[in-house]
Amino acid sequence: MESKEERRKREARERTRRWRERHPEYKERARELQRKRHVENRAEILARGNERERARYAADPEPIKARNRAWYQKNKEQRHAYYLKRKAAILADERRQRERERTRRRYRDDPAAWLARQKAWRERNPERAHAYVRASSIKRRRAAAGQSFTSAEWLALVEYHGGSCAYCGSKVLIEIDHRTPLIRGGSNLIANILPACRRCRRKRRMTEDEFRVLLQRERRQGLELGLEGLDGKAGTTRS
Ligand SMILES: [Zn+2]
Repeated sequence: MESKEERRKREARERTRRWRERHPEYKERARELQRKRHVENRAEILARGNERERARYAADPEPIKARNRAWYQKNKEQRHAYYLKRKAAILADERRQRERERTRRRYRDDPAAWLARQKAWRERNPERAHAYVRASSIKRRRAAAGQSFTSAEWLALVEYHGGSCAYCGSKVLIEIDHRTPLIRGGSNLIANILPACRRCRRKRRMTEDEFRVLLQRERRQGLELGLEGLDGKAGTTRS
């Protein structure tokens, strides 16, 4: 049995429907209005959509990942064709520069993940990896030719740092460290050299500044975990 309220609503719906039938131009106008509203609030609407999507991803990333994978698979060829077209359009130098920046950004964001990916790539492509290392070591040696620190300069530098690691103060296994790595354009001059313990030299491709940021972060996390004294002397370089 239809209640009074239900009947009122049904009748209102019917009136609306009849009105719309008498005014076919309504549909077009409604669509127009909606389009206008969308254009006016575009940023807000998109932001809200993104927000919802992010929340959904945070709650359960799997369906979204699967959807993305499916989309990527479905559009693989177009995407690759588009990629090739863009690649050809951009000058080679500019592209290399961008790739370099992207690599640096990825490395900075998550060094461990980047190194793991690199390692996996080397394992998949051993010959290309060897060729790459050979080429870059030749380039590096050529670039550093004739400009290198002397052993006297090195000994003086170590003495200046009291025989300690410039990052953490350890005196164990002190080795040569490049403040800006050679592979990233650093020189072999003494101004680019620091004494570092083997543990700190794991920074590998980071610059001194990037490594200090990492050390500070680790130290903060260590303090949060109550591990006082971890890398406690980070940031003691006098150079
Ligand atoms: Zn150290």
